[in-house]
Amino acid sequence: MKKLLAVFAHPDDESFICGGTLAKYASEEVDITLVSATRGEMGRRMGNPPYLNRESMAAARETELRNACDSLGIQQLLFLDIRDKTVEFVDEENLTSRIENLIREVEPDVVLTFHETLGGHPDHCAIGKATTAACQRTGHKDSLYFITFGNAMEQPERFGYSHQDVIKIDVQAHLEAKLAAFRAHRCQTEIDEWVWLPDQEALARFGRYEYFLRADRESSAKNLNDLF
Ligand SMILES: [Zn+2]
Repeated sequence: MKKLLAVFAHPDDESFICGGTLAKYASEEVDITLVSATRGEMGRRMGNPPYLNRESMAAARETELRNACDSLGIQQLLFLDIRDKTVEFVDEENLTSRIENLIREVEPDVVLTFHETLGGHPDHCAIGKATTAACQRTGHKDSLYFITFGNAMEQPERFGYSHQDVIKIDVQAHLEAKLAAFRAHRCQTEIDEWVWLPDQEALARFGRYEYFLRADRESSAKNLNDLF
């Protein structure tokens, strides 16, 4: 059985950024373990109209993430119990070794995380940096890919990469699952009217592809349309 380990920062990173790809591999019987460093309890969106507060948010977002995992077909969900918006401040060695232990336990064929400088949020960059270091220690660098936003990697040269570094996954057949996961993250998406349009209209807002950067740029060319 093929195994994928995704190490992200917040509930919703998995759905909003690469939900189509996770749903695709889950549908192909890949065993997926999702790690969320935090429970997203410092998020600014509190539902619409607001019904959450700082006290209730962590539990609500955990429940939403479990529902999103069901929509995507993710079997295992783990939290690192780091406070939201503080991942960059936790002890880096400790964080790296926790992830290293997880990698040794799961023995994944593919690891997904954030790029340590292109992550777009301090929590994203910090979890990406620690996961990258952990993969180096366990010899998983050739299994490691960085998630990227939207279709930015259609032009990888803008970020110092080439098309040979980009894996482009066709997720067209899995957009329904992705939309269901967006809707599962209700307190985060309620304010986005398009998410709640009739299915066909909402689905039309998604791109057909999700893009990943190869961490191991030295390895020889492989299939640029598959992570495995
Ligand atoms: Zn995030």
